[in-house]
Amino acid sequence: VSERVDVVVLGAGPAGEHALGILLEAGLRCAVVERELIGGECAYWACMPSKTLVRPPEVRGEARAAAGVGDPALSWPGVRDYRDVITRHWDDGKQIDEYVAQGVNVVKDAGRLDGPGRVRAGDEVIETDRVIIGTGSDAAIPPIEGLAESGYWTNREATALKEIPASAVVIGGGPVGVELGQFMARFGTKVTIVQGGPRLLEREDPALSDLLAGALRKDGITLHLGRQATRVARDGDVRVVTLDDGSEVRGEELIVASGRRARGRDAGLETIGVELDAHGAIPIDERCRVRGADNVWAIGDVTGVAMFTHVGKYQARVATADMRGRPAKADYRAVPRVVFTQPEIAAVGLTEAAARDQGIDAVGVTVDLAEEISRPVTYEENPRGCLSLIADRGKGTLAGAWACAPLAGEWIHWAVLAIRAELPLDVLADTIPQFPTYCEGYIAALRKLAAA
Ligand SMILES: Cc1cc2nc3c(=O)[nH]c(=O)nc-3n(C[C@H](O)[C@H](O)[C@H](O)COP(=O)(O)OP(=O)(O)OC[C@H]3O[C@@H](n4cnc5c(N)ncnc54)[C@H](O)[C@@H]3O)c2cc1C
Repeated sequence: VSERVDVVVLGAGPAGEHALGILLEAGLRCAVVERELIGGECAYWACMPSKTLVRPPEVRGEARAAAGVGDPALSWPGVRDYRDVITRHWDDGKQIDEYVAQGVNVVKDAGRLDGPGRVRAGDEVIETDRVIIGTGSDAAIPPIEGLAESGYWTNREATALKEIPASAVVIGGGPVGVELGQFMARFGTKVTIVQGGPRLLEREDPALSDLLAGALRKDGITLHLGRQATRVARDGDVRVVTLDDGSEVRGEELIVASGRRARGRDAGLETIGVELDAHGAIPIDERCRVRGADNVWAIGDVTGVAMFTHVGKYQARVATADMRGRPAKADYRAVPRVVFTQPEIAAVGLTEAAARDQGIDAVGVTVDLAEEISRPVTYEENPRGCLSLIADRGKGTLAGAWACAPLAGEWIHWAVLAIRAELPLDVLADTIPQFPTYCEGYIAALRKLAAA
């Protein structure tokens, strides 16, 4: 049994690491148990490599869109080498050293709860007052005949790729599938995306799905929407995917990007009498306490609340506040959702349809930014972009917003703040955005909303 600690952090993805940082600042004695790499999926196989990979082709796209700029060359070795720097060459030695220097007991092994107040990792048993579980999620693998035998990539192989494949079939038209698909297409891969649902980004407004589908087709991507993959086979080096209408699509690589599954099952919850939900997620309350347990919190993807790094980090702030006796209540009404394609897509809060389903007296307006404001024409030669606002007429506040335009992932935060703070629409309309910026789109949309 190792020295007793105040808190064990089980799983050191972005959620666990954020919690650990706060607890160390507060002077608590901590242990961290991590079975793979400190930094988790996000740092090595998800957000960080994917955003690093999409950026150079985006710059080229921007250069092509700006007047009078030549066509910059893209060098895959240069992009790949920089991706390897950003993913620390998949080595967490420096992170371990830094935590050890701060007095953290770092255990590199798979860990699990071993009854109340105990975490077991390999041969080590750590006794602790409190536990935070942040064991993340895995790629969900759909039950398609022949898939396992034929071999496939998940986000792991796709974000760590060494060479650009000549062709690839992507199963899944959510954020991961479209970002990876567009990146590969822009490096010359012949990409086919197969999406079971009738449209891309199914949780977003249908108008966004259409805008994105148009952009991806322009990049030369073939889309099969509303089509299920039913079988996979190999023809030499090529994967042949049969769709539910009997047609076939082919790719040198096959990428499965059809969602994530919370990784609750290995955390030993049964030793403290807690059952996982039907999706393998750990049930939590609004303070991120694990329901039915004392002194155990869960944060990040493993809670199944919203699988984003920023949500995991937010939950880390909520859980660590609660554990230190401070008021803590998670509020998920204003979670931004950005898809880092080009054009960039950003959304927050409810879509108009979801707001109506919740009984909200909702009204939505959409503005064409190139027509309404000046930034788009100074930004690119053939400007595009739109912003949609969804108002809650009963409360006089914003219920949701979405946008498809350059830098939308940055300026969506006007709406994030407005929704979170329940800012009255007239205060929002009485706010001064810098000229010429995309934020002026809010004023244009609010004027249209007032007239709606
Ligand atoms: C391709 C891709 C791109 C993405 N891009 C974005 C993005 O741009 N922005 C965004 O917000 N989100 C993005 N996401 C989602 C984001 O990666 C996750 O929401 C985030 O990584 C969740 O953080 P986490 O700490 O909960 O879990 P993880 O990052 O999954 O980390 C969990 C850690 O726990 C460890 N662990 C698991 N079980 C055990 C155990 N029993 N014992 C010890 N350790 C254990 C794991 O090894 C891992 O290190 C993306 C996802 C993918 C797949």
